[in-house]
Amino acid sequence: MAMFSFPAADLDVDHRDVAAQQRLLRDRMKDMGWLTPRILDHLDDTPDFYFDQVAQVVMDRWSHGRVGLLGDAAFSSSPLSGQGTGLALVGAYLLAGELAAAGWDPRAGFAGYERRMRPFVEANQEIGRLHARMLDAAEPDTSLGATPDARPGPELDGEWLTDLVERAINGVELPDYAGVPASEAPAGPSSPNRAGRRRSR
Ligand SMILES: Cc1cc2nc3c(=O)[nH]c(=O)nc-3n(C[C@H](O)[C@H](O)[C@H](O)COP(=O)(O)OP(=O)(O)OC[C@H]3O[C@@H](n4cnc5c(N)ncnc54)[C@H](O)[C@@H]3O)c2cc1C
Repeated sequence: MAMFSFPAADLDVDHRDVAAQQRLLRDRMKDMGWLTPRILDHLDDTPDFYFDQVAQVVMDRWSHGRVGLLGDAAFSSSPLSGQGTGLALVGAYLLAGELAAAGWDPRAGFAGYERRMRPFVEANQEIGRLHARMLDAAEPDTSLGATPDARPGPELDGEWLTDLVERAINGVELPDYAGVPASEAPAGPSSPNRAGRRRSR
């Protein structure tokens, strides 16, 4: 398995056009030397080529009416945070727990989920951006006009970093939701669909 990454603020390639993605990768990596040409040769026969942009999803709110978002759809922190799976799982636990604790009232449940989850998400997204800035400082994109000293990397010593890492790892409380109402007893009037689903169980 090999993984390449490169800065590309101007990335413009169709996510379904694999041939164009492979051309772009060959072009950007062709002068790297070492084993790179041999690795790139395998692009012709690899069965599981994967190309994507490293990006975050940052939204002011994660719900509207009865629709709530979770995981990457709500708050992707990017692979550079290393925490996307953890955020999705913690979010699922809190979303289910807060909805149940609110008697399945979506407005109150979504509000509780977002209140508990947002500081944790923000700390992890900050870690993702910090990592990107470090990579950018190590490999400034000179093709975009950057000079090696154009963007100094972040200072990585100081209490702020310890504080940020602490918030990114432990900055969320996971209440014990034992005893909250089960989803079979939703608040408010039942819709015909919901009643039908309950009968079929
Ligand atoms: C290269 C890479 C490396 C990563 N490394 C790490 C790591 O080291 N640690 C870490 O914690 N996280 C990592 N992540 C992030 C992690 O994979 C995601 O944050 C996590 O998978 C998000 O979970 P999710 O359930 O929100 O979304 P997903 O895992 O993307 O699940 C969404 C699912 O919905 C399906 N779907 C989409 N549209 C539809 C539709 N219309 N109908 C039905 N199904 C649909 C998709 O096929 C997919 O199965 C990495 C991500 C990438 C891309």
